[in-house]
Amino acid sequence: MQQWREVKARHQDALVFFRVGDFYEMFNEDAEEGASLLGLTLTSRNNGSSRAPLAGIPAHSLDSYLTRLLKLGRRVAICEQVEDPADARGIVRREVVETVTPGTVLDEGLLDGDRNNFIAAVATAGDSAGVAAADLSTGELTLERIPRDTLADALRQLAPSELLLPRSAPDLSDGGTPSWICTTRGDSLFDPANAADELKRFYGVLGLEGFGLGGEEDDLLVAAAGALLAYAAEVQPRSALLMRPPRVLRNSSRLLLDQMTCRNLELVEPLFGGAREGTLLGVIGDTRTPMGARLLRRWLLQPLGELRPIHDRQNAVGALFSDAPARTEVRANLKRVGDLERLGTRVVTGRAGPRDLLAIATSIEPLPALRGLLGSLAEAPLLGELAALDTLEDVRESILGALDPGTGGAGGEGPVIRQGYHPELDELRELHSGAVGWIARMQATERQRTGIGSLKVGFNKVFGYYLEITRANLDRVPPEYQRKQTLANAERFFTPELKEWEEKVLSAEERIAELEARLLRELREQLAAEAPRLHRAAEMIARADVLAGFAEVAVRRDYVRPEVHDGFALRIRRGRHPVVETMMPRETFIPNDVELDGSARVMILTGPNMAGKSTVLRQTGLAVVLAHMGSFVPAAEARVPLTDRLFTRVGAADNLVRGQSTFMVEMSETAAILHGATARSLVLLDEIGRGTATWDGLSVATAVTEHLHDHIGAKTMFATHYHELTELEHRLDSLVNFSVAVEERGDDILFLRRLVPGGADRSYGVEVARLAGLPPAVVRRARSVLSDLEATSERRHRQRDDGARAFNPVQLALFEAAPHPVVERLSELDIDDLTPLQALNLIAELAAEARPAAARA
Ligand code: ADP
Ligand code: MG
Repeated sequence: MQQWREVKARHQDALVFFRVGDFYEMFNEDAEEGASLLGLTLTSRNNGSSRAPLAGIPAHSLDSYLTRLLKLGRRVAICEQVEDPADARGIVRREVVETVTPGTVLDEGLLDGDRNNFIAAVATAGDSAGVAAADLSTGELTLERIPRDTLADALRQLAPSELLLPRSAPDLSDGGTPSWICTTRGDSLFDPANAADELKRFYGVLGLEGFGLGGEEDDLLVAAAGALLAYAAEVQPRSALLMRPPRVLRNSSRLLLDQMTCRNLELVEPLFGGAREGTLLGVIGDTRTPMGARLLRRWLLQPLGELRPIHDRQNAVGALFSDAPARTEVRANLKRVGDLERLGTRVVTGRAGPRDLLAIATSIEPLPALRGLLGSLAEAPLLGELAALDTLEDVRESILGALDPGTGGAGGEGPVIRQGYHPELDELRELHSGAVGWIARMQATERQRTGIGSLKVGFNKVFGYYLEITRANLDRVPPEYQRKQTLANAERFFTPELKEWEEKVLSAEERIAELEARLLRELREQLAAEAPRLHRAAEMIARADVLAGFAEVAVRRDYVRPEVHDGFALRIRRGRHPVVETMMPRETFIPNDVELDGSARVMILTGPNMAGKSTVLRQTGLAVVLAHMGSFVPAAEARVPLTDRLFTRVGAADNLVRGQSTFMVEMSETAAILHGATARSLVLLDEIGRGTATWDGLSVATAVTEHLHDHIGAKTMFATHYHELTELEHRLDSLVNFSVAVEERGDDILFLRRLVPGGADRSYGVEVARLAGLPPAVVRRARSVLSDLEATSERRHRQRDDGARAFNPVQLALFEAAPHPVVERLSELDIDDLTPLQALNLIAELAAEARPAAARA
């Protein structure tokens, strides 16, 4: 317990898994927490004077418990016995060999192959933040300075599993459902001088200039990076980590996507659960390697914000798009490449077994072909760079020279090291097989000698080799046989000679195992030195993989290269929704044109429910995202302006997934748009203002539209069932009305899904209700209520035209309404002239006049 207390004192924020024989035990507060998180039985252990709570798990099922704890955002310190109990004097020494945390876990079984597992360290000062983001399993490290006010969104786009912060930092755990856990460490870890030392030590360099870091303005980056590496060393005290040199991203503007936008556009996760096919990633996710899959996800969540790199990617996609044979062959070769990135890390951290090493060799095989194929497409620089791909043939040779590919089987049985690789090993193996052969022959010679035809030579783990003789033949057993074990029907014996040969077999086996383990370790160490080359190759291959995937999808789904420019206009001709179109038979999706430019930058989109408003909105947003990733887009032609932020908001009533359809949530999201949007942003509003009473909603919708139009100047598409909003067209110069066309056929409506200029005049709710299968009687009743309501509102309108109050904010603003007659009379009044009685009569009169016509009748 004293040992445990010492360990626990150093790992207070973790659950300590304390190895005791075949179990990991948790004690005291850890036992209580662990038992409740994992559903274990809580027992207790006699601890001299007191009893300590205790809960344990079998060592062999460690991974499954770790997975669960990591998902719950917990950290686990693995405390192992670090000396052989047989050699120990007193209590066995124990040490924490690794702390497993959500952001630093390295174990293959706990990682998801097609997504990165990031940890981000954040150092802040003033209105600026330095962010270091690393995936320890792939060895990537990027540094970036980010303004404080976009930090939260930038972090959400990165989606780290863990955030490392100085203890004094403001809370970044981000209310709601944080997707990451926060870990804090002392501020000194983030001290720029300490951090710079850590960086230099880690990379074995004298200065940081080589990484492009220098000057005070980089202090925040250095602080974050140094703290991150120090923390990594803390949680992985025994493994050398393989990290590529830090990549500093400067002024790398991105298309910012906030969390609601990612969700509403269903970029990587479907809104209502369900299959991944229902997302943009599902449709364009046609990569062939694990590194490619991870990179694609990142490109998707962090689209580019600059023309040059976008055009570079487009050129590469274009080259592969038009060269079908090259594309097919490239992709066939990519399919044979395994996870070189994570395999490389496993080699360096000493976790790679023979099967991993052989997987590296197999992955390397197609590299020369890839280099030839892609390097020749040199008109696209991103592909041309693959002419310099390191094909790693020497690495492959040293693996295959040492290992026998026949060892891929589970459990690593059979010879691992190749015959002829090491003379001593070959000798031992010969010795071994000679001895085994002698024993095997013994059965025949002894049968002959004793005349016992059923005599058998056998082996078991406890007793070793034996001669087995059935009970019936016991009287014929020769005297030199010595009894070893008694069974129900037989006795087992050994002879001094058998024992001698047995020893030869066993000692050869032991020495073979030792030697093989040593040779394997030496091979791993030799390969570890080459691991940075594996990582560099993996990076290039990942890029080629994503680009070839874009080209493949573009061909298969008929996408076009968008012209991405730094002007203002967005023009999409015959655009389609990339996901919705895959859910219907080919050619059934109706394409639509969308144009937003200086003279028509705000589009009000009306039309009945189910007409296709949300779909047009989202397909426009998705085209902008795709274009900024460097991908082609589902359209016949597209001009996409460089965009700084994309906002997509879906009104509470439309956004069932959020559960609470509160107007408050909707409004605070809208507020975030009005604060964050610029003239270079694209704003997509879908039924905003629906979560409250009609007039409130309409008023807010009007004011928001006016603000976006007059003050922000962002391109905006606003889908709404408030057809009153269409009247804004008269007043706002750059606002245009569009609607999704329907055709009336008697009582029926036909959805045409075509975008046409002009607003819808009514919402066809009753028709939609009928289509949805409401009973005919209810539909008839609804129709009659509707015509009553329409009649009433007609009357009101007439009244309004008479000069009465119009309860329509749009109308109010539009026409300088003549004052109400009551107001006119009041303003002409001279109060000093009135007696109290006259005053009372006048009030009664005015009150009667002011009451609406309906009430008077
Ligand atoms: P709204 O927002 O106007 O209520 P949606 O955009 O949600 O309508 O579209 C309703 C359904 O109509 C979609 O789920 C889709 O199946 C279909 N749809 C929408 N747009 C199209 C289109 N352009 N072509 C074919 N079907 C479409
Ligand atoms: Mg809709």
